[in-house]
Amino acid sequence: AGTPLTGRVAVVSGASSGIGAATALRLAELGASVAVLARRKDRLDDLVAAIEAGGGTALAVAVDVTQRAAVADAAARIADRLGPADLVLNNAGVQLISAIEELRVEDWQQQIDLNVTGVMNVIAAFLPQLTAAADAGRPADLINTSSIAATRILEKFSIYSGTKAYISHLTRLMRVELGPRGVRVASIEPGMVDTELPSHVTDPDASALMEGLLHDIAPLEAADLAETVAFIAASPRHVNLTEITVLPTAQA
Ligand code: NDP
Repeated sequence: AGTPLTGRVAVVSGASSGIGAATALRLAELGASVAVLARRKDRLDDLVAAIEAGGGTALAVAVDVTQRAAVADAAARIADRLGPADLVLNNAGVQLISAIEELRVEDWQQQIDLNVTGVMNVIAAFLPQLTAAADAGRPADLINTSSIAATRILEKFSIYSGTKAYISHLTRLMRVELGPRGVRVASIEPGMVDTELPSHVTDPDASALMEGLLHDIAPLEAADLAETVAFIAASPRHVNLTEITVLPTAQA
């Protein structure tokens, strides 16, 4: 009863830090074998070592998810080593907020490349494994990490929010087709979480804005979101939690 995910094969993208790393650890604790994806291989190796030290099974796969062929290769390798995936946390993302008039087009493009194209590449690579799991009568979960930015009107968040609105709505639309196929599709929409996410912001004003918010509100821990993902995946097979917003209690 303490390991409701025993026998599941999970894939977590963006697993080298933050929400992804915490979720990989938690899913492994609950009995899943976990493939962890990101670019920083050293971080992934440390995470795999931590999971194995706890008696779990994990596989580090260094991959840039913006590269479609590389993600497809990773999916084949994972199926070969751990078995076909039946739980995918599509989580790698970047938040490079800035005032629109700054025209930080490189930052805009990077967000589109990862939060839109990267998310799409992960879906394409793993969907056949998820539908195969469903066809075999097993639970199958595709969980996309969106954000409260998908719906909120936040200054300097325009491109980032656009990518998250895309993820939330894409999730709703995919569910219409995949629910009847036995694949649960969900999005999580976190508020402020204490991770490396704000550290990549290049616009000093936007960076100060984020620091102010983090100073004013005690954010969630990544482990809080790991619990949410685990709850979605461990629900009875006929239950699909479709969109879950998780806010720090003090965040308006
Ligand atoms: P982190 O910056 O800690 O994690 C981002 C992860 O994405 C890292 O593991 C990073 O690893 C990975 N990543 C970045 N680029 C690539 C790439 N090209 N290919 C593969 N992996 C990549 O931040 P969070 O944990 O906060 O972010 C996780 C998700 O949560 C994101 O989608 C974010 O938008 C979302 N989110 C976060 C919130 C927050 O307040 N923190 C709030 C709402 C949503 P590496 O650099 O090693 O590749």
